[in-house]
Amino acid sequence: ESRERLQKVLAQAGVASRRHAEQLILEGRVSVNGVKISALGHKVGTDDYIEVDGKPVERSEKLHYYLLNKPVSVITSVNDPQGRPTVIDLMKEVPVRVYPVGRLDYDTSGALLLTNDGELAHRLMHPSYGVEKTYRVWVQGPVGISALDNLRQGVLLEDGNTAPAIVERVVCGVPKKSTEKSKSDRLEILEVTIHEGRNRQVRRMFAAVGYPVLKLERVRFGSLSQGNTLRPGAYRALTKEEIQELR
Ligand code: URA
Repeated sequence: ESRERLQKVLAQAGVASRRHAEQLILEGRVSVNGVKISALGHKVGTDDYIEVDGKPVERSEKLHYYLLNKPVSVITSVNDPQGRPTVIDLMKEVPVRVYPVGRLDYDTSGALLLTNDGELAHRLMHPSYGVEKTYRVWVQGPVGISALDNLRQGVLLEDGNTAPAIVERVVCGVPKKSTEKSKSDRLEILEVTIHEGRNRQVRRMFAAVGYPVLKLERVRFGSLSQGNTLRPGAYRALTKEEIQELR
């Protein structure tokens, strides 16, 4: 049986990043088989029983990775105090407990990674890692050049300026109905790529330049770009190659 360092096992279980797990150990908050471990270097096997702050740490031997096309009207959370459906409710066939990596709004659809690989999840969610995310954005067009420039260079939001973003027009001024003539009332679709992950960031960026978002879909999360090719609510396991690329 292979034994691994306690902080690594805690990180794998999704308790904390490896560094934070070391802190938890040093603070005397971790026990193994009922014995407090407060120095680094302790190794554990799969049968050892670990607790943090007196709560058992759930460990699963095998790491699982799934790509879900999150539908709208589902929350990206493990449970919801208001009882709304969660992404976990959609993943009934998954044999282990997985967790969403980052968040999509209730009213946003698209690519969402779920895994029980706590270490990878912490890393991908850390701001310094800067995973690129691409969103398809529906707004009432036509979107002016100055708004595009502004979005690209950075928009001032309540929580500060956004970092430069890539913004491309996908569909420019599609008439909402085939009979519609007015140029001033047309749906436009853009793709925006950001590497930050502030709350409702894309919606706030577009609202700030005068184009409230009508519909939002994430089409890429890092190297995962197939999310929106699944039917809404469907998911699949990542391939070995896809897992490699994420690491
Ligand atoms: N930006 C948003 O505004 N909403 C999301 O769900 C993701 C990014």
